[in-house]
Amino acid sequence: MPHRIVLATLNAKYIHASLGLRYLRANMGRYGGPDLDACTTLAEFTIQGAPQDIVDALLAECGPADPGAVYVVGFGVYIWNVVPTTQVIALLKSQRPDVKVVLGGPEVSHEWSDQAIVALADYLITGWGDVSFPKLCRALVHGPRPLMKVIVGEQAPLADIAPPYPLYSDHDLAHRVLYVEASRGCPFKCEFCLSALDKTAWAFELEEFLSELATLYRRGARTFKFVDRTFNLKIDASVKILEFFLERLAEAPQEPIFVHFELVPDQLPERLKACIARFPAGVLQFEIGIQSLNPVVQQAISRRQDAAKTEANLRWLTTASQAHLHTDLIFGLPGESWSSFARGFDTLWSWGPHEIQLGVLKRLRGTPLAAKQHPALVFQAEPPYTVVQTDAVNAQEVAAFIRLARYWDVVANSGRFKTSLAMLLDAPSPFLAFAHFSDWLWRSQRRTHGLTPEILVDALFLYLCQERGLGAERVRSALIADYVASGARATPKALQGFLPRRAAPALAVGVRHNERQQRHAVVSLP
Ligand code: SF4
Repeated sequence: MPHRIVLATLNAKYIHASLGLRYLRANMGRYGGPDLDACTTLAEFTIQGAPQDIVDALLAECGPADPGAVYVVGFGVYIWNVVPTTQVIALLKSQRPDVKVVLGGPEVSHEWSDQAIVALADYLITGWGDVSFPKLCRALVHGPRPLMKVIVGEQAPLADIAPPYPLYSDHDLAHRVLYVEASRGCPFKCEFCLSALDKTAWAFELEEFLSELATLYRRGARTFKFVDRTFNLKIDASVKILEFFLERLAEAPQEPIFVHFELVPDQLPERLKACIARFPAGVLQFEIGIQSLNPVVQQAISRRQDAAKTEANLRWLTTASQAHLHTDLIFGLPGESWSSFARGFDTLWSWGPHEIQLGVLKRLRGTPLAAKQHPALVFQAEPPYTVVQTDAVNAQEVAAFIRLARYWDVVANSGRFKTSLAMLLDAPSPFLAFAHFSDWLWRSQRRTHGLTPEILVDALFLYLCQERGLGAERVRSALIADYVASGARATPKALQGFLPRRAAPALAVGVRHNERQQRHAVVSLP
């Protein structure tokens, strides 16, 4: 019988290859049986795709309806894809009601009873799906049919879960970011975070994991993004993984490798530092969640973070290592006012990270923060459930911050304005200086998207000269240095007649810089 099982998801971008789908696919044979293994396919889309196109592609995967066959489409549902996935499922069910729709993923694992997407689906697996999805498919094909719509996912020991890595195709290896995980879970309990529910972390068997990494490397993989919530929990394992990459670099120094890890900031023992210090520039990127430097806020969200160790470690990383540091702050946490956030930002900025990602609190279903139903925290009703106002900031301040965060991305995190950014932030409070610029830019542009590098150059020139009273010559030379280094090719008004004639080597440098920025931008997305 031509049963068909399609594992589908809508990724945020094409470049993100879904790890979760590959886990389910890898375990179909082990827990579903060889016949189901043979009739399962993967189908990845992006949230930019037209819902009808996605449905057409899924139905093509299923093939024409055969009354004796079972058709299953499993969807991975996340905060970033729940809206378009709901549209896709509504269309799919209207065209082929015989197709069984199974949902899984963090967005539907908690508070699912009121969700439209769950109402449209036939089954929902909450929590881990590696084992439960294949078992559900086996039951749908061979019986007995499950009695319950909602199935609590079985959390198997990690040793019993087949690794997903062979399912990365050669095309994935060459063109997409590869997600890998040496451990699952997190022992910390930050209340805004879904990982707070884990209570602990579980490690995959290290030698087996390293052997999977070695195979991926041999096949050509060079960009690895570790999704471990806290890479530096077990230092022995962290050192062995870093040594794996050091060995590859020693064997083939001409082969560029790029590896991204998430670290907790206050745990960096000497042994780990010694290992990190051996990496050349351009290989390591660390994403370090700081979230808030306000001890009252940290306490309110049950986040344990040693401030002195955090500072010492960040300063060490920025001065003694060549790792690229991407740090995170969250605006809108309970008790965090505009001025306390500004103090935290200024402190973090003084430690010298390469990027500060400015996030805004979101209400993630199932988190302790959501369960508390804090009366002063108001969130948007629709995904991504961004905070609208809190006990410490009003709606206008949240809206101003969201604009500021967008401008910070294109001006600071883009890396395009290094020299002029230093001028812009040269003030007692770099945060308040940027906030002033952000207000001015909003009043003059009335938009946060579509700001080209040329528009930004002209805006920075006007702002720094007119609002900050800096000399035009000084400002222009900073902007020229930034603009040329970025490799941009047009001519902003403020620089007309002042840009040097473009020499080939300058452009080549610019192009390399752009590629690096793009790589960093890609891997730091969720
Ligand atoms: S924010 Fe980070 S440290 Fe805190 S619970 Fe989540 S994953 Fe763990």
